[in-house]
Amino acid sequence: MHWSHFFIPTLKETPADAVVPSHQLMLRAGLIRQIAAGAYAYLPIGHRILRKIENIVREEMNRAGAIELHMPAMQPLDLWKETGRDEAMGSTLVHLPDKSFRKGTVLGPTHEEVITEIVRAYVSSYKQLPVTLYQIQTKFRDEERPKSGVLRTREFLMKDAYSFNPSLESLNESYERMYEAYCKIYERCGMPYVAVEAESGAIGGDASHEFMVVTDAGEDWLVRTEDGSYAANVERAVMAPLKAGPSQDAANLEEVHTPGKATIDEVSTLLKCKPSDMIKTIVYSADGTPTIALVRGDHEVNEAKLRKHLDCKSLELANVETIRKVTGADVGFAGPVGLSDVRIIADQAVTIMQNAVTGANKTDYHYTGVNLDRDFSITESADLRYAVQGDAAQNGSPLVFEKCIEVGHVFKLGTKYSDAMKATFLDENGKSKPIIMGCYGIGVNRILAASVEASHDDNGICWPVSIAPFSVHIVALDVRDDTVMQTATKIHDELEAAGIDVLLDDRDSRPGAKFKDADLIGIPYRVTVGKRGLADGIVEFKLRTSDDVEKIAPDQIVGVIREKFANL
Ligand code: ATP
Ligand code: MG
Repeated sequence: MHWSHFFIPTLKETPADAVVPSHQLMLRAGLIRQIAAGAYAYLPIGHRILRKIENIVREEMNRAGAIELHMPAMQPLDLWKETGRDEAMGSTLVHLPDKSFRKGTVLGPTHEEVITEIVRAYVSSYKQLPVTLYQIQTKFRDEERPKSGVLRTREFLMKDAYSFNPSLESLNESYERMYEAYCKIYERCGMPYVAVEAESGAIGGDASHEFMVVTDAGEDWLVRTEDGSYAANVERAVMAPLKAGPSQDAANLEEVHTPGKATIDEVSTLLKCKPSDMIKTIVYSADGTPTIALVRGDHEVNEAKLRKHLDCKSLELANVETIRKVTGADVGFAGPVGLSDVRIIADQAVTIMQNAVTGANKTDYHYTGVNLDRDFSITESADLRYAVQGDAAQNGSPLVFEKCIEVGHVFKLGTKYSDAMKATFLDENGKSKPIIMGCYGIGVNRILAASVEASHDDNGICWPVSIAPFSVHIVALDVRDDTVMQTATKIHDELEAAGIDVLLDDRDSRPGAKFKDADLIGIPYRVTVGKRGLADGIVEFKLRTSDDVEKIAPDQIVGVIREKFANL
């Protein structure tokens, strides 16, 4: 490909609204252009990279035995009503306006409903199972804050696969295969990834993993141990129980006046205690029943853990009236002392507190010297909180926190969709059963952006060969010189004939500008052909990621590069 015939609109300046490196570099390198908030055009270089990622994904899906199909982005709302996800998705679901020829149509944010509708129509016997179907297709999600370039957009490409299995064992096998295929995909894309345990929904246990790329541009947090023995999404992380501190003399329970001081910070400042000396008392409404969660003042309730512990359908913070009714006080003065007739679940860390401070269930008052059993009782204790700095994994290794972005997700769904949509099969004994499902998603555009996050320097992007828009970048200096252009063109043509993607910068511009662009778009191998070099009988060969320059005879360079590719 000759640069002058191609379309690579590089920019000298960093656009002001781009904050994260991938967004800045993808704009500057002429990979993408925003057309509407959260909707991007992929310009030719960006498009080439997307296609390469897509091919890797497709190859590994096929190798894992998944079968490709294509489903429509336009979907009937009725299918979403069958599973109740029309409501659960809320405003993220994009609805098309009703017209006389089209009623109740949405743009798919994902395709569980559609694939289940297809499978229930055609699959009726265990003999047709298991089957894993996938597509690579555009998704629409009306994300509230599309941001960070193509890391989070309203329209994006997803590879979504769905397995349909006759038994849990079979589901585990499909899941395992997808998990392994995902590892291969990220490895082949040259991405440093971490597979973490994630929220697992209905099936529980080890039923969901997210594939994360560690980057400051991410919006999620993962925790892991240095030794790699444990990694989890922070939402899901299970910590070692905290150990009790040295035992203290039990203080008297005392009521103290704390007028207008309702928050942990305000009370700890006023009473000169640490937030970790306080018990936070939070009133929830779990399936409509008031329920109290206790955590240490410096900890946060993890509602996913609480919800799972309670095994409830709905969980929300109680409203002011309920709080008043349960505690007899205004919001901010709740505490466990003296409460009865309400389920109180204490986080493990609360059960080892001594002489704690907490609300007195009386507006403008707190208690000090509060001790479990002597002053209050709990219904049960559980792990209810998010991990914090200083926590250890269950095996005792300290947890490290890292910001990350999710590039893929594998999930054992169980029978959530097949129950709701009546997708059943007859087993060997002629008994009707719901099909057990798994779903497996990869954000194709996100791999592109996350790869830039993971691999760039001050001058631009550094593509791994596997997804680079071109493998070799020939920079022709002195393009008005016939020998230069003849040599450069010959190298270009021979590489192309050898099946190597090559870009020849044949523009009549200053060398400095051409080198800058070459660094910016980040093609892994660079060959420089110039008048002076040719006079000395050499062209220059260099890696994007190294400053070392090799001088090689023009008639040998193609052989050298071919050898490198043969060894890849
Ligand atoms: P997130 O938590 O980042 O919003 P998600 O959990 O909603 O993602 P899934 O429903 O699991 O995403 O979708 C599968 C994959 O699709 C994700 O792993 C991610 O790589 C990609 N993806 C999801 N939402 C977006 C988006 N708005 N823009 C780009 N890629 C996305
Ligand atoms: Mg996810």
